[in-house]
Amino acid sequence: MTEEKSFRTNAIHSGEPRPPLCGSVVPPLFQGATYEFFGEPNEGPVRYARLSNTPNHVILNTKLATLEGGEAGLVTASGMAAISTSLLALIPPGGHLLAQENLYGGTFQFLNEDFPKLGRRVTFFGENDLADLGRFMEKDTRAIYVESVSNPLMKILDLNAVVSFARKNKLFSFVDNTFPSPVNFNPLALGFDIVLHSATKYLNGHTDVIAGAVIGRKEHVQLIGRLLKHLGGALDPFAAYLLNRGIKTLAVRVAYQNESALKLAQNLEKHPKIRAVAYPGLPSHPQHARAKELFRGFGGMLAFEYEGTGAEADRFLKRLKLPFVAPSLGGVETLVTRPVLTSHSWFSPEELKRQGVGESLVRVSVGIEDTQDLIEDFNSALKN
Ligand code: PLP
Repeated sequence: MTEEKSFRTNAIHSGEPRPPLCGSVVPPLFQGATYEFFGEPNEGPVRYARLSNTPNHVILNTKLATLEGGEAGLVTASGMAAISTSLLALIPPGGHLLAQENLYGGTFQFLNEDFPKLGRRVTFFGENDLADLGRFMEKDTRAIYVESVSNPLMKILDLNAVVSFARKNKLFSFVDNTFPSPVNFNPLALGFDIVLHSATKYLNGHTDVIAGAVIGRKEHVQLIGRLLKHLGGALDPFAAYLLNRGIKTLAVRVAYQNESALKLAQNLEKHPKIRAVAYPGLPSHPQHARAKELFRGFGGMLAFEYEGTGAEADRFLKRLKLPFVAPSLGGVETLVTRPVLTSHSWFSPEELKRQGVGESLVRVSVGIEDTQDLIEDFNSALKN
């Protein structure tokens, strides 16, 4: 199946062999670790699950590349395996990275704490630094790293400016595209070099798999794949089987989540118990115009300030009947969390204030429950 087919069709068929393996409409799970190998010249490379080349891996690698519009894809054992392995593969010891300061906590901690121990350096920049990034450049600066939508306030950097800065300075450009998912945004088309995903989130969509993905040019993905073999972050075949099943419904899930999140955000914005709502689809979002220009949909993630203390916000969350109070995102069930207790728990009060993350900020990952049921549940929990 080629890229000329539509996204929805590719999500189902891309990478899947025809005629189907063993005649099975669903690609069978090849849970085996190793495969027969006699070393004959025409046999190709050894097949072994850690090398990410079993049939279940190969299907996904192809499908992910197609959905992001890249030459090659690679699934990994987690989003963090994709992120850490890619950065280490493409930035040599002694190399320096420019990274957005507002990153997912695990990525921020990896860069802040582990990266220097592994002989690499990082400088974090804020959204207001983008106009003058050149002042952070060092002789060994190799790459720039951003997220297409930031957590938890859904900020959107000027991604065109990031790409042109990277090109002008011959830097690798990395982007974590987990929040929009390839349904809403394809960063490679904008000029990014490497797209990363926590496939745990929208790609799988059912909150039952930990996985990651890297998509980019063949030569880059090969280098990352080589290091992945040695660091050992391959995806288990059963997780690969489940992830492929999840991806088949990605387009329909995210289309509904886009619509539902917008309606929920509009409803919350009008409510007197809500101080502010951060959702890129609302005209009140500071980067609404940019989101409209860059993305095909505004996504299923939003955040809002509850009018009250953190403890009062917690009591409100406990009154919700449908959403689960839990971290993570991108699944079929709605999840709510207070970022000061989860993704941002290690930040100092000053840093939280600077980033605009308050005690009563609530992040919502909108699932695929009926929109009206969700709105009624939020309204009824807000009544008390
Ligand atoms: N990137 C983003 C934006 C995330 O939200 C997460 C996890 O929450 C990750 C990366 C890490 O992914 P994983 O938990 O699959 O390792």
